[in-house]
Amino acid sequence: MSTDIQNAMGPHVHDPRTGEILESDIIWYHNVMNLLRNWYFVQTAAINPEARSPKFKDEIMGRLIQFVAAHEVGHTLGLPHNMGSSVAYPVDSLRSVNFTARMGTAPSIMDYARFNYVAQPQDGKVGLMPNIGPYDDWSILFGYKLIDGVKDPQEERTTINSWIKEKANDPIYRFGRQRGMPTDPTAQTEDLGDNSMRASELGIENLKKIVPNLIQWTGEDTKDYAELNELYNNVVGQYRRYLGHVSANVGGVYEYYKTYDQGEPIYRHVEKAKQKDAINFLNKQLFDTPNWMIDARILHRIEETGMAERIRSIQDQTLAQLFFTERMKRMVENHALNGANAYSLTEMMDDLVSNIYREVGKGGETSLYRRNLQRTFIEVLQRLLDNPDNAVEHTDVKALARGTLKDLRTRFRAAKSTDKLTRYHYDDMASRIDKILDDK
Ligand SMILES: [Zn+2]
Repeated sequence: MSTDIQNAMGPHVHDPRTGEILESDIIWYHNVMNLLRNWYFVQTAAINPEARSPKFKDEIMGRLIQFVAAHEVGHTLGLPHNMGSSVAYPVDSLRSVNFTARMGTAPSIMDYARFNYVAQPQDGKVGLMPNIGPYDDWSILFGYKLIDGVKDPQEERTTINSWIKEKANDPIYRFGRQRGMPTDPTAQTEDLGDNSMRASELGIENLKKIVPNLIQWTGEDTKDYAELNELYNNVVGQYRRYLGHVSANVGGVYEYYKTYDQGEPIYRHVEKAKQKDAINFLNKQLFDTPNWMIDARILHRIEETGMAERIRSIQDQTLAQLFFTERMKRMVENHALNGANAYSLTEMMDDLVSNIYREVGKGGETSLYRRNLQRTFIEVLQRLLDNPDNAVEHTDVKALARGTLKDLRTRFRAAKSTDKLTRYHYDDMASRIDKILDDK
């Protein structure tokens, strides 16, 4: 049985002796059209006039349904998800009219590749939707092509293996498994292209173009602002997806399946420069306040309060991801195995701290959003000191957290500001650190 959380398909009945699928169903959830509307809107409205409305034309919705139906039919034929597919297409190719017309936006309809959020308004009539692709055709051939003249399945192995090896070095035919929290940044859901930082930066450029138009594009006479509220929150959700795609590069490990006769390793740590790029991206796009999201005209129509906590909680959750125990284990091990070629935990800490506390001691005002972030990061360090996991207890993680807190306390104690609240903030931060260190 294979199930899509959002779209749903039913159980297969299959013959356990042969694997032959005897019966299979596709069941549609009632809300799939709304889900498609939200995705298509936030991923393409910046470049696509057809998506700039709460209700799409039937031809557009029909095409969106076709996209989901093709994926679900893939399941009925026995195809699993392939989250390692979309990485085969370079980000720049996704901005090419010719390339997307020929190849679609990912090599497989079985990836969770969504609509083309990479393409920019100046790119012209670029393809926006995933199609059945070369990986899918190849998978069907692999699963269904008759091999004549063999007596049992063992005799098929050599032939089938030769098919695999024929395409082994072509990323279009790569398979990447689905995981709850991806370790391999090239096998992620909801992403596109071969570079998460580049693709996400372009995606955010498009969100910045949507937000100033959102009231108009969601508006309908006689209706309230429910659609504005829903689609604004979908814009924020899409932004969070981009942050997740980028974060997976930090402490990431690529997984490319091989057989013994291919003679190559399967696992490889993500390159140091790429991990550093990911942290630079998060510093720029998240820890520098994402002001494009703070649109008073929208917020005054959908909520009494909530913006400061919205931004703070996204920052907190991303930091929790970065300091997730399993990720820290991989980073510590990478450093042990590959030395200076690894992006170390200490370097990540330095790169984050130097941005998050960069105003401290400069004399000016620290904004509400940045004060919140500075407080939140102290809590992250406190959680590291409190973490009972062996992998944290028996490595340098706690020493790193404690040393960072002490350095920050020295800076806060010495820092001056012309702004009263900022001065109080410095004093409060030093006291908070005292309390954390006293308790340990
Ligand atoms: Zn599926």
